[in-house]
Amino acid sequence: MIQQIRGTKDILPDEISVWQHIHTIANQILNISNYQEIRTPILENTNLFERVIGNETDIINKEMYTFKDKGNRHITLRPEGTASIARSFIENKLYVKSNINRLWYLGPMFRYERPQRGRQRQFHQLGIECIGSANYMADVEVIRLAVKILECLKVSNFELQINSIGNREERTKYKEKLLSYLKKYTHDLDEDSKKRLNNNPLRILDSKNKKTQEILFNAPTLQSCLGKMSLNHFYNVCKNLTYLNTPYTINYKLVRGLDYYNYTAFEIKTIEKNDENTICGGGRYDTLIEELEGPKTPAVGWAIGLERLIIVMDNDLKRQQNKPKIYLIMKDNRAEKNIWDIIHICEKNKINFLLDLNNTKLSKQLKKAHQVSAKVCIILDVDELKDIYCKIKWLSNGYQETININQLENYLKENKNLLIN
Ligand code: ATP
Ligand code: MG
Repeated sequence: MIQQIRGTKDILPDEISVWQHIHTIANQILNISNYQEIRTPILENTNLFERVIGNETDIINKEMYTFKDKGNRHITLRPEGTASIARSFIENKLYVKSNINRLWYLGPMFRYERPQRGRQRQFHQLGIECIGSANYMADVEVIRLAVKILECLKVSNFELQINSIGNREERTKYKEKLLSYLKKYTHDLDEDSKKRLNNNPLRILDSKNKKTQEILFNAPTLQSCLGKMSLNHFYNVCKNLTYLNTPYTINYKLVRGLDYYNYTAFEIKTIEKNDENTICGGGRYDTLIEELEGPKTPAVGWAIGLERLIIVMDNDLKRQQNKPKIYLIMKDNRAEKNIWDIIHICEKNKINFLLDLNNTKLSKQLKKAHQVSAKVCIILDVDELKDIYCKIKWLSNGYQETININQLENYLKENKNLLIN
């Protein structure tokens, strides 16, 4: 038997309503705030991610799905959304039409990781990017939207953590400070962190290793190296979150996994105590677009991991399913033509219906109607005079009546409340 690829998952019909709901809510909330959906290809040139995400990140070092296509091109299945959007922004010159572009996306991402609950090789992200503004209000706008979406999806018990990682020069200064502190503990660091000492010491702050985290407890903080501009930006973001009554905690060790961030970095975590408790990550990336040879354009955004989001979502929402209200049974083939009229009436009046295709005895078909929790059965039959009629059977109490097919639409309209509720 051929099985699905490790780390990938089918989203089955009885799970789909929650995915559709997330898309609908995201669409509603983001549209009102003037964010527009963008869909970029899953395949990109490998060097896009190499340039954007940066060396010594987990993604570049070990997680990319990269291959050569038949034309010998180096191709990668996108591991995240921001790089593709930056590429598309530059390539399509989105900046010509408008100096600020508010964009959102939802789609599959690919990372070769060890699969576990909340960690897959194909997973999905919903993300937004506000491109073109260096204003701290843009940071607050995007953070607020993440929180708003989570609230509308009835996710509770999450924590917004925020930090400022300053600008490049400030981080260079900090790296030196951090390095001289960590050098004393080199032997006690985990293997990944040891490697990062030379390449990218800041990433060590991100380490999930317990021992390394203990060592970091007394390390100098990035905050101590921030200049006036960075501190001011951060102060204003925090101030506005307070205006919004959005609770947050400042986490001085939050640096995020990707290289291209500056100033604001933030994460939203659930209270589950495991490594997969971050549902949203984001921040400001003022130099990324320029680095990709686009115009100097500041930007800020985030991505929410949908599999992790769904784990903490309300179970009622996950179970919601589209159930048929009317079960259609054709008892006599001579009524075949009229079944299409009934279907048309159901569609016109937006009543969910299911046509029996089993070709079994009436009693079995009625049983099926009960099984799918339909409210009513409409049995199409022909009498001695070859007139077509509908027998209506309410499944909750067995009440039956017979009506002429011409009366059906009115009958359904009159009883719509009973049918829908
Ligand atoms: P982690 O530290 O958990 O590996 P990350 O820093 O690599 O996360 P980001 O690149 O910031 O994650 O991606 C944003 C969000 O996407 C994460 O917070 C998470 O919810 C989700 N995500 C990332 N990788 C995976 C994955 N392999 N499977 C499922 N969701 C993921
Ligand atoms: Mg990761």
